[in-house]
Amino acid sequence: MINENIVSHMVNPITKLMIPADNVAHVFDSNTLNHAMLILSTVKYSVIPVLSVKSKLLGLINMPLMINAVTTEDSIEIDKLDQIFIRDVMINNPVTIKEDASFEKILHHLVDQNFLCVVDDQDEFKGIITRREMLKRINHFLHDISIPDNFEKLFSEVMNSEKVNDAI
Ligand code: AMP
Repeated sequence: MINENIVSHMVNPITKLMIPADNVAHVFDSNTLNHAMLILSTVKYSVIPVLSVKSKLLGLINMPLMINAVTTEDSIEIDKLDQIFIRDVMINNPVTIKEDASFEKILHHLVDQNFLCVVDDQDEFKGIITRREMLKRINHFLHDISIPDNFEKLFSEVMNSEKVNDAI
C-alpha cells in the first residue's frame, strides 16, 4: 500500500494526470482502416483509442494490426484498407480505469502499458493517463521531497523487504 500522504502530495486529484478526451487523438469503430492509418501517421502515436459515435471506449488500434489485416502470404493489399472497418481489427476490451482509481492501481497498470484509458460508469471515454505524465510527476516529487537524516537506513530497509518485490 502506498502511503496516502505521498499520493496526495504527488497527484491530487488523479484527474490532474489525465489528458482530457478532447485532446486525445482517436478514431471511430465505423471508420475504415484507411482513415485510421491517415490519423495515426498524422499524430505519430503508435496506438490510439477507438470510440463509438456516442463517445464510449470500444478498443485500441495500432499500425501492425492494420498492416496484418491487409497482408496476404506474398503481398500487402493496400486497396483493402478502404474496405475493412476498424471495429473488425481493433483490440477489444482494453484495460480501463475510473476517475477515482487509486494511484497504486494506475501505477501497476502503467508498468505494462504506456497509457491507460479513463472511462466513467457508462464506459464513456474521459481521457488517458500516460506513463510519461506519471513519470514526470514522480520525478517532480523526488526532486521536491526533503530527505530525513536516517533516510539511507530507512531506504535500505524498505528495498530489502519482501514487500517491495511483491508490489512490483
Ligand atoms: P507518451 O507517454 O506521451 O509517449 O504517450 C504514450 C502513448 O499514449 C502514445 O504512444 C500514444 O499511444 C498515447 N497518447 C499520448 N498522448 C496522446 C494523445 N494526445 N492522443 C492520443 N494518444 C495519445
